[in-house]
Amino acid sequence: MLENYRSPWMDADLEAFADAVRRFCKDVIEPNEMKWREQHHVDREAWLKAGELGLILPDLPEQYGGAGGSAAHAAVVIREMGYAGNSSFGYGINYLVGHYLSNYGTEAQKQRWLPGMASGEIITSIAMTEPGTGSDLQGVRTTARKRPDGKYVINGSKTFITNGQLSDMVVVVAKTGEESGAKGISLVIVETSNPGFRRGKCLDKVGQDAGDTSEMFFDHCVVEADALLGGVEGQGFFQLMGQLPYERAMIAVGAAAQMERALALTVEYVKERRAFGKTLLDFQNTRFVLADVKATVTASRAFADHIIQQWVDGKLDSSLASMGKFWLTERQGEVIDKCVQFFGGYGYMLEYPIARMYADARVQRIYGGANEIQRELVARSL
Ligand SMILES: Cc1cc2nc3c(=O)[nH]c(=O)nc-3n(C[C@H](O)[C@H](O)[C@H](O)COP(=O)(O)OP(=O)(O)OC[C@H]3O[C@@H](n4cnc5c(N)ncnc54)[C@H](O)[C@@H]3O)c2cc1C
Repeated sequence: MLENYRSPWMDADLEAFADAVRRFCKDVIEPNEMKWREQHHVDREAWLKAGELGLILPDLPEQYGGAGGSAAHAAVVIREMGYAGNSSFGYGINYLVGHYLSNYGTEAQKQRWLPGMASGEIITSIAMTEPGTGSDLQGVRTTARKRPDGKYVINGSKTFITNGQLSDMVVVVAKTGEESGAKGISLVIVETSNPGFRRGKCLDKVGQDAGDTSEMFFDHCVVEADALLGGVEGQGFFQLMGQLPYERAMIAVGAAAQMERALALTVEYVKERRAFGKTLLDFQNTRFVLADVKATVTASRAFADHIIQQWVDGKLDSSLASMGKFWLTERQGEVIDKCVQFFGGYGYMLEYPIARMYADARVQRIYGGANEIQRELVARSL
């Protein structure tokens, strides 16, 4: 979206893919955004369309229903969705859950779930957060106890879960062992048709209204022994630590794209809106503030490009992902706040995209691990 700026990792194949994602955003996301916001969920048809175009799991091998691309394809989807102003379509959760399965799942688990997730027929969630614990993941209280017949019985509750109303399958973070801390934690796959599973209410949020963020309850929810991700107990915390950097990288890349969109919308507006006989862009304050914003947006794009390149090269480390997550989401908040100001009262009206972007942006500093937690993780690398 920044003019005259081509990301170093882009090539002709990725440009063509970006065109396809852009068309999807124009034809499917944009016309439905307000309807989805009102109903608090995205239509399943959009998931199917995204799956058809290979947008959900673009970097998984074709044998599992993926599009056989690379992490750069995943980055293209995130960026184009950001340019289109989308921050509620939880396709990214299928991407993350898909990677939990492809990295740690048994062959049978991959065959069972991945093709449907890639096609958009199966919508998933990942349930870590509980009413009593979010940042401190080792403190989860949901249990998955093994019965003598090898099956697991899950009890507990989760909250703030993305795709919570629509999901067909949820990966649950639960304690399988008595050990305290990381060792007793496992990831367990639960089908939402299970009679022991219950969805709570779809939560009313400050922004990202098209997302069905929800509570979930597990009441003596019995699953087969092969529902344990990877088949070995006590691996859950390490599996989470292995994949959370990708979730943070996705948030970071999305934040940089949203900033570019905010700048583009604002420049367009200040060139047209008039006050005191001139356009808003004629005021020196507007010019100087937007010059600062453009510098921030450009630096953010370069930072996001570096994260993407490391990701593509298989070198993304936890510290870089956490730096990107906290730094870019904070720049996103500042940039959008400055942009809103130029819209005056219209900037506070949800009818205007900039107002929705303002409301949607706030949570970026909270979810995916609060920014304070990201700073802790970076500090450990010093
Ligand atoms: C829209 C939305 C979607 C979400 N989607 C999901 C999902 O799909 N799956 C899922 O499992 N969760 C999801 N979450 C939950 C999200 O990840 C948590 O809200 C987040 O990790 C923070 O946990 P908490 O809310 O329990 O806050 P707490 O852990 O209570 O922390 C509150 C605040 O305390 C401070 N704090 C906490 N620990 C420290 C520390 N060590 N050092 C310094 N300060 C600290 C931070 O400022 C933090 O924001 C979602 C949340 C939202 C709002």
